[in-house]
Amino acid sequence: MLKAVEEPRTRLENSVFGRGADALLDGKGKIRRDHLRRALRLIASADPVTRASLARSTGLTTATTSSLVNELIALGLVVSGEQAESTGGKPGTRVEMNRAFYAVCVVIVRAQSIETVLLDLSGARVLTRDSVHPGGVTPADVAAVTGEIVREFRDRVLAVCLQSPGVTDGSVVRESVLLGWKDVPLAELIAAEADVPVVILNDADGEALTEAAFDDVDGVQRLVLRMGEGIGAAVTIDGRVLPGATNRAGEIGHVAFGGRGAQIRCRCGGLGCIEAVASLTAVLGPDFHDELEPNAVRALLAAEGAGERMLLGAEAVAAALRILSGLTDPHEIVIAGRAPLLGEPFLAAVRAGFATNRPKGTASPPIRFAHDSDPALGPGRLVLGRVLGVSLLRPAGNPGAL
Ligand SMILES: [Zn+2]
Repeated sequence: MLKAVEEPRTRLENSVFGRGADALLDGKGKIRRDHLRRALRLIASADPVTRASLARSTGLTTATTSSLVNELIALGLVVSGEQAESTGGKPGTRVEMNRAFYAVCVVIVRAQSIETVLLDLSGARVLTRDSVHPGGVTPADVAAVTGEIVREFRDRVLAVCLQSPGVTDGSVVRESVLLGWKDVPLAELIAAEADVPVVILNDADGEALTEAAFDDVDGVQRLVLRMGEGIGAAVTIDGRVLPGATNRAGEIGHVAFGGRGAQIRCRCGGLGCIEAVASLTAVLGPDFHDELEPNAVRALLAAEGAGERMLLGAEAVAAALRILSGLTDPHEIVIAGRAPLLGEPFLAAVRAGFATNRPKGTASPPIRFAHDSDPALGPGRLVLGRVLGVSLLRPAGNPGAL
């Protein structure tokens, strides 16, 4: 659990990391903030850090790095830990992230449920709450659930990232077919409940950011296809999501890619939309929903006809990926969402379909399922990055990206 907090979040809010600090900082102040971010990044990395090693890594003087560390300690972000092992001279005191002091809140909105998560600054879950809304999740439900948890942990929650299906500009959900929402000012609704920075994120983008947390090299371009009740895609470049001019890059659910499913009617009224052919609802039937337990999903997959529909879905996915991959030329293609529950036969069919009739001149990137990791990680990294300028949170047991 989270430790008791002696000092409130307001200290951070009034610091160089606070909202509005940008307008108040002069050039020198901004350089100082850059140094603080660099120190944070090094302290959060897997290697043990002392004030002296920080000075060596940054090229700053010991006096400057000491003052940076002291400021980070005063802000509650960092603590002085145990004695580091001596490398000949006087052993220094290890400096570590104060992981359990602050948290970020990630709210994952699905069609009929809301999952609320608190992540500490190591990326570990310290709290999970599920609320179920059988009639469909409303914006008021989301605001109420989020407001409650932020008020309860008000001194510790630095920011909220709300992940939702549909098109969003970061504060308004412009359109969600799955939720039946249009132009919902969700960030504003939550701000009325809780005074913290709020970012709204599309669900495929959130999964793509979680995948990017595993990158340990710079410059990776990745195409992520999220499959569940709906289908969406996202492209990340060096850990950032390609948004598009109207925040709709990757909204391919209602694009028809042709092929054997071209005559299947979609709930949007169109014919042959990839969602109508390859979504997990299309493959597994109307009993599938995004909240379903893995064993229940596997039971649906064992039902008569599901295997055949899965192969049809794989064919449609392969056709879509051929076009999207030709357009974006990614290092790799990742299939995320609930699709990994379809197992290796689905992946093998997608790979085979992708390789068949591959257009000349296009690359043949590897296709794999997403890492089995905490879906809150990507959204948490995004919103912590907005507050501190450093994402910090890492996948468990993986140094990944900072
Ligand atoms: Zn459609």
